[in-house]
Amino acid sequence: MTVRKIDLRSDTVTRPTDTMRQAMMDAEVGDDVYGDDPTVIQLETRLAEMTGHQAGLFCPSGTQSNLLALLSHCERGDEYIVGQTGHTYKYEGGGAAVFGSIQPQPIDFDENGCLPLDKIDAAIKPVDSHFARTRLLCLENTQWGRALPMDYLGEATALARRRGLAVHLDGARVFNAAVKHEVPVRQICESFDSVSICLSKGLGAPVGSVLVGNSEIIDRARRWRKVAGGGMRQAGILAAAGLHAIEHHVDRLAEDHDNAERLARGLQNIEGYSVDKPQTNMVYVHDAYGRANELKARLERENIIVTSGNPMRLVTHLDVSRDDVDHVVGAFNKVSSIIAVEAVG
Ligand SMILES: *Cc1c(COP(=O)(O)O)cnc(C)c1O
Repeated sequence: MTVRKIDLRSDTVTRPTDTMRQAMMDAEVGDDVYGDDPTVIQLETRLAEMTGHQAGLFCPSGTQSNLLALLSHCERGDEYIVGQTGHTYKYEGGGAAVFGSIQPQPIDFDENGCLPLDKIDAAIKPVDSHFARTRLLCLENTQWGRALPMDYLGEATALARRRGLAVHLDGARVFNAAVKHEVPVRQICESFDSVSICLSKGLGAPVGSVLVGNSEIIDRARRWRKVAGGGMRQAGILAAAGLHAIEHHVDRLAEDHDNAERLARGLQNIEGYSVDKPQTNMVYVHDAYGRANELKARLERENIIVTSGNPMRLVTHLDVSRDDVDHVVGAFNKVSSIIAVEAVG
């Protein structure tokens, strides 16, 4: 028998549950490129309703969903304002520039994961042939596990509107933000022109993201999805997993948040480490010894998988139980005392 490992690298690592697999088995399917896969339509419609948008588009990944949004809002020579460490800037291979000739204007996130309003304002370029045309503001929620304050969302989208920009939300984990704030997800999503939502993170589906927006944006994105090679056929099999996830795995995100808090509490008293207070399902551990690689290797021997890094990001999810968290805390204690002795000796 293979030993079960506790995988804290990301919430993308969750495996579909038995009931999710059954829902996939039972899915009614069609050909989504012809627009007649009923399960895909159901997923797109459901998420559009839940988020207060007119339409949705099922995409193979969040990276593609964000890319399609950027391509639909901007044209060649346009620009989007984005966080310096934003996924749509730093972690998507420069896709907007590669495929759309769209230029990013990155600015620094503040300590809450927000782009400061004065910095956004200052980054918007005047209409002048020297400059790219600033067209879009792109926010991220949650940003490194931080749920953006609700007030901020209204202020940032109002600023963008006032200055003639559209606003896109990379809401890969927007359901975590909604659960954290105890608000319907619509309240976070409705002031944006488009929102990209991952089904394959904490929601536990194997594949897929949905882009929501008004019909015009989604029509454009649908065309770009085909261009990008993202038109899938009997995709209802996958959409069924997404539907199951939004029916059954949203409220339980609170458990992941509780587990993250329990993990942070357990780790914060270990000598040599400091832990940021988690807001959702991510715990950031700062390691005074700077020996993340060794920590990772030693944890692996305790059947715990992490990515090295300082801070080290630990992510709780559907496949991490409260007992697992306690096991992780115990292993950290054991491993870190070995590392501490070595560091001194
Ligand atoms: C995971 C993620 C995405 C999309 O990633 P895919 O792996 O392409 O699905 C987008 N934005 C953020 C913030 C993410 O964490």
